[in-house]
Amino acid sequence: MIIKIAVIVAIAAIALYFVFRKKLLPVPETFPKLWKQYLQDTVKFYQNLGETDKRQYEDDVLYFLSHHKITGVGTDVTDEDKLLVASSGVIPIFGFPEWHYHNLEEVILYGQSFNHLHETEGTTNERNILGMVGWGYINGKMVLSKPSLRQGFENESTKSNVGIHEFVHLLDKADGATDGIPEALLSRQYTIPWIQMIKQKMEAIQDGKTDINSYGGVSETEFLPVVSEYFFNRPRLLKDKHPKLYEQLQQVFQQDPASTESNG
Ligand SMILES: [Zn+2]
Repeated sequence: MIIKIAVIVAIAAIALYFVFRKKLLPVPETFPKLWKQYLQDTVKFYQNLGETDKRQYEDDVLYFLSHHKITGVGTDVTDEDKLLVASSGVIPIFGFPEWHYHNLEEVILYGQSFNHLHETEGTTNERNILGMVGWGYINGKMVLSKPSLRQGFENESTKSNVGIHEFVHLLDKADGATDGIPEALLSRQYTIPWIQMIKQKMEAIQDGKTDINSYGGVSETEFLPVVSEYFFNRPRLLKDKHPKLYEQLQQVFQQDPASTESNG
């Protein structure tokens, strides 16, 4: 009798788990009006798209949300957070309609920035970490600071966007090597000019002679994500100040965001 009850309780618990698990991540079939409004108000990249591309972007966001878990640690995960995580993933691959993040299972949001060894660099000093992509035992997971994620989109003038930064690391990782050279995206004839560009621009960063975030000078691996944040957040400014770098990033991402960036 006791065993019977135990079995029934266990089955009920498993059933409830699946019912509630489904409810935790509801992905609507059509794109909600409120979501459109939020993207229109908050995500500049989305604002600058034409109507057809906006529909494509919305489909990509729904695909993203139905294939990757988003979990909060010490914080709740709102619809706005989900839209910003998905946007961080969708924007860098918008030029590649067939591309999906096969190497990503879960995005974990923290309520604040966290101290941890940053990405591949071993023991960096105690700096505040805003985001990271999992390696080794946390392979397939990305960790983002929720306040930093929001700041990357809400502050219109910033050249920083931690969400885009981490997704570009994933793109770089997709060819098997996290080396700052996205072979999966960049055809061979562009690889050598890209490596030369990295060298030259990193030297300028190290000499303090550039407006590119100094974190891009830390290593070849960090250069691509850092300039990608600039490319997607402030495309026209990047094109004005670093036209050759802009051109190369256009090749990498198959996008020309400066051409559609609105005034402001
Ligand atoms: Zn990084």
